[in-house]
Amino acid sequence: MKNWIMASFNPGKIAEFQALMPQDIHLISLKDIPQAVSPEESGDTLAENAELKANYAAQLAGLPAFADDTGLMVDALNGAPGVHSARYAGLTANHSDNILKLLNALQGRTDRQARFETVLCLVGVMPEPVFFSGILKGTIASEPKGSGGFGYDSVFIPEGFTQTLAEVGAEVKNQISHRGNAMKEFQNWLSKNVR
Ligand code: IMP
Repeated sequence: MKNWIMASFNPGKIAEFQALMPQDIHLISLKDIPQAVSPEESGDTLAENAELKANYAAQLAGLPAFADDTGLMVDALNGAPGVHSARYAGLTANHSDNILKLLNALQGRTDRQARFETVLCLVGVMPEPVFFSGILKGTIASEPKGSGGFGYDSVFIPEGFTQTLAEVGAEVKNQISHRGNAMKEFQNWLSKNVR
């Protein structure tokens, strides 16, 4: 059995990723390292942030490591909130604050195209970092709807749907989501490159 580390404290995320790892790879997380803190996300892009987080975990644990970073890019806002999605309405903002700021910024706009993007970065396995990405295209609704999901789910209507991600339910979301698509790419690569 080999150990790899995922640069996250979120047990739900770790469980999702453990399920797609080759059988002889056991995932540990930042929760397993007593001195771990939340890694800095000072990059200008999702890829830079994913790489920063992966490198942090790799150095701390001395193991192969990976991290993910996700953002919501809205065309009419020149790609904002983008890499700042978690703290769009300020450092202490919660999801409702962020949604309110987004809806205000788009008030009166009919061009509401947006996309979620997830980037994964794996370090310590190949000589260079390896990146995977997944996208979900959609539009921003005029008001929040639905109670499922998290983050911007209640205002994001995926392409081909009439309901928000918070209304369609976890099963549908997992099949179409940016994170799901990035995970599929990662799993595909693992099945060809790691045994
Ligand atoms: P993280 O990189 O996964 O921590 O995501 C950064 C931020 O993007 C989160 O705090 C959420 O605001 C937003 N976000 C990420 N994934 C999703 C999603 O699947 N649905 C809605 N919002 C998301």
